[in-house]
Amino acid sequence: MTERIDIKSLSLEELISEMESLGEKKFRASQIYDWMHVKLARGFDEMTNLSGKLREKLQQQYEYTSLKLIQYQESAIDGTRKYLFALKDGNVVESVWMKYKHGNSVCISSQVGCRMGCRFCASTLDGLERNLLPSEMLDQIYSIQAHTGQRVSNIVVMGTGEPMDNYDNLLKFLRLLTDEHGLNISQRNITVSTCGIVPNMRRLAEEKLQITLALSLHASTDAKRKELMPIANKYSIAELMDACKYYFEQTGRRITFEYSLVGGVNDTDEDARLLTALAGPLNCHVNLIPVNPIKERDYVQSDNGRIVAFKNKLEKNKINVTIRREMGRDIDGACGQLRRRHMEGS
Ligand code: SAH
Repeated sequence: MTERIDIKSLSLEELISEMESLGEKKFRASQIYDWMHVKLARGFDEMTNLSGKLREKLQQQYEYTSLKLIQYQESAIDGTRKYLFALKDGNVVESVWMKYKHGNSVCISSQVGCRMGCRFCASTLDGLERNLLPSEMLDQIYSIQAHTGQRVSNIVVMGTGEPMDNYDNLLKFLRLLTDEHGLNISQRNITVSTCGIVPNMRRLAEEKLQITLALSLHASTDAKRKELMPIANKYSIAELMDACKYYFEQTGRRITFEYSLVGGVNDTDEDARLLTALAGPLNCHVNLIPVNPIKERDYVQSDNGRIVAFKNKLEKNKINVTIRREMGRDIDGACGQLRRRHMEGS
């Protein structure tokens, strides 16, 4: 069986040439694009301004990606919702919807599983299954917007997967998501988080998008980072800092450092001092995340006093720092846990 083209991953230009090759008028492409990316149609049969004949032809020629909602949970504390979606091949991905004063935010997955092996992370325990297509990243957002009936204004690519390990699909996704003919999400409202794949951080800088790049730093020395994150064996902190500097120079966008505080591992005063030395020279913002313990590992959260002391030490040195507010605390533990629980059948 030849693989059918995934129509929701095509740019408007690509869709126009597809329609031309089918002998259709150019404006059909705009209509279909609008159905997919603005009206959020679930299939060709909803495209009522197309003839039945054309809809049938599209059905035969193209794959229409539409995720299937299989479960969702809502937090009684803050209204956060966690969603589980099934992909066409039966794989399952997890996404999160968060309500903030400034708008609704969706956290999406970029891969099924992950091969980066960060020690504290649940999403990587079974390795990488496959990359997500642009359409599969988009449809997490589309499905959630349709389900909640509320506009999504902010996107964080911080769910399962390493976005820089799926670079080409990520870029297509970002272009479709921010396209003025599509959902038209502002680039400034998008954050992409990476464990630090240096060459692709540099490539992203050269795209000159106005998105925020978040670096999962989690340690301030190479030795300590290697204990937490295997990727640190490949790229040093010095190389990461250079790439961050380059990203800021190319885009003018302030970098975010994510730093998960693990009790007794990376939360001492000395760690804070070293982190200050790294963050100080860069235009960046540090986001401290109390680690979310997963049952497969014995990492624990730093106690509250330690977290506050760590934050104060950075602030005293004029580093811009926040402690990440835990959303949806009552509906499931660490990232990737809902999906894991589903797969374990419990
Ligand atoms: N692969 C990307 C994005 C996915 S995870 C990255 O590494 O950045 C998003 C953030 O959550 C990362 O900073 C990741 O290190 C962090 N994270 C993963 N599991 C966590 C846990 N159990 N507790 C706290 N932070 C965690």
